[in-house]
Amino acid sequence: MDLVNALTGQVIHYPANGKESGSLFGGNRAIIPAELTCSRGPMKKWFRIAGLGSVLLLPATLTAQQAPELPALKQTAVAEVDRLQTLTQQMVDQIFSYSELGFQEFETSRYVTGILEKNGFRVERSVAGIPTAWVATHGSGKPVIAFITDEDCIPRASQKPGVAYHDPMVEGAPGHGEGHNSGMAVNVTAAMVLKKLMNEHHLAGTIKIFPGIAEELLGTKAFFVRAGLLKDVDLVLGAHVESEFSTSYGTGNGEWSGLVSVQYFFHGKAAHAASAPWDGKSALDGVSLMNAGWEFRREHLRLQQRSHYVITNGGDQPNVVPSEAAVWYYFRELDYPHIKSLYEIGNTMADAAAKMSNTTVDHKLVGSAWPPFFNKVIAEAQHKNMEAVGMPKWSEADQTLAKALQKEIGAKAEGLKEKVEPLTEPEKKPAGGGSDDVGDISWNVPMVYLMYPANIPHLPGHSWANAVAMATPIAHKGSTAGAKVQAMTALDFLLQPELVKQAWDYFRDVQTKEIHYESFLAPEDKPMIDMNKEKMEKFLPQLKKYYYDSAKYKSYLEQLGITYPTVKAQP
Ligand SMILES: [Zn+2]
Repeated sequence: MDLVNALTGQVIHYPANGKESGSLFGGNRAIIPAELTCSRGPMKKWFRIAGLGSVLLLPATLTAQQAPELPALKQTAVAEVDRLQTLTQQMVDQIFSYSELGFQEFETSRYVTGILEKNGFRVERSVAGIPTAWVATHGSGKPVIAFITDEDCIPRASQKPGVAYHDPMVEGAPGHGEGHNSGMAVNVTAAMVLKKLMNEHHLAGTIKIFPGIAEELLGTKAFFVRAGLLKDVDLVLGAHVESEFSTSYGTGNGEWSGLVSVQYFFHGKAAHAASAPWDGKSALDGVSLMNAGWEFRREHLRLQQRSHYVITNGGDQPNVVPSEAAVWYYFRELDYPHIKSLYEIGNTMADAAAKMSNTTVDHKLVGSAWPPFFNKVIAEAQHKNMEAVGMPKWSEADQTLAKALQKEIGAKAEGLKEKVEPLTEPEKKPAGGGSDDVGDISWNVPMVYLMYPANIPHLPGHSWANAVAMATPIAHKGSTAGAKVQAMTALDFLLQPELVKQAWDYFRDVQTKEIHYESFLAPEDKPMIDMNKEKMEKFLPQLKKYYYDSAKYKSYLEQLGITYPTVKAQP
């Protein structure tokens, strides 16, 4: 890729893509200081210059001189994130109030892209054939640093924020019972600060922001990869809500699995269930036999497998032989070959069940995810920034809410975490656990996942309890802290091209030395963009009444008239 250095007018040459070139910056790029004149007078700046194919060695004196610049920029970034605290809080609260399920993130996407556009980012909508997906970009040239975080929520997790017991906003409605409402506040705040610093200090590079659409369905990242959205990206900084500050590399704590999520549709023949059952073929029999078969088989699978299912269609009423029935499986394992083998066993089981029940069956891939693998070089840089930022200062009210909720659900009433744990080596014997479709991205581009402290520890996950803190000062402070680390880590890589190269060296020489990414998607697989449509439409009129109005109210708690914290009277 050729482009003109904004400062010098000199044409510089970068490889089109870190993946295609043998080395990303290949030693033909160095950082040198220059006296520059900008609108505010002469300033010492760093800029990148590349000899066309020549090798410029980085003189030790220059490396040494570079040091004070980066810390100063990081300090400015932290101050700028603090300056944006109100906007960060508003984003957390606004997205919490939208409570949108996967593939139905229409209000959320409109809101977030609106903020980004207003702040000068270029936005492309409906990417990868997904109506709620988008990508926002600022800047140009290398390195290209992408931020990603989820937006979708959990069915039936509706909950009043700041209340330490189950009290739904709208009974039965979706809610942010995972905390995905805070991720965009983290990444958008960080990106806005970076844009400002890049403009003021003429830093070369590109910032991209992606939403994690339908993450709860593991529904989109493999499609993002297939659509080529990541192909120019040099590194990805993901962010996910947690109850602590942490990051990891490799397979991390070993509690990640990959998966395929598959729906099986059985087709039979309707008949009167009492007067002519012999004329019917029960699709529900097919589903039941498949599930029974799977339960027997489970005993003889590796301990690392995790599988679970729900019957999404069990027929209409008992006196009609069900002509249609469906069951939805998640097949989880630790690596691609094992996941693929579970998928094949599932398909065989479905065919056998169809034979036994005299029905037919077909299946549809709903989602897929490689087990994530994170980059050591980025994780180490990120962890240093995490230690520098430190945990948020929790108030007594924050701790009271946390302890009351922990007590309410029967967890250890330890309150909120106060310190950043050290970065640990990856677990040697991974046991598996949950999945995240960022896994697919992590096998295509060096990536890390920043876990930021915006929720309460020891909660069950995917439930109303995980929504309690998510529009309170706990989520607000945690998101601000997360944004600082995201901005600082991006600066590490914007200003030190050699670190980008090291991240790619680890990606090539360690991570993908023997394992190569292969998508679970068949060419005919398409994103299931109509999923959750009916569920969302059902609750939309009630949810709309509770959308947060940031022009009128300082916080969502204020709008809802909730005293913070609201806890049960202690005996
Ligand atoms: Zn999540």
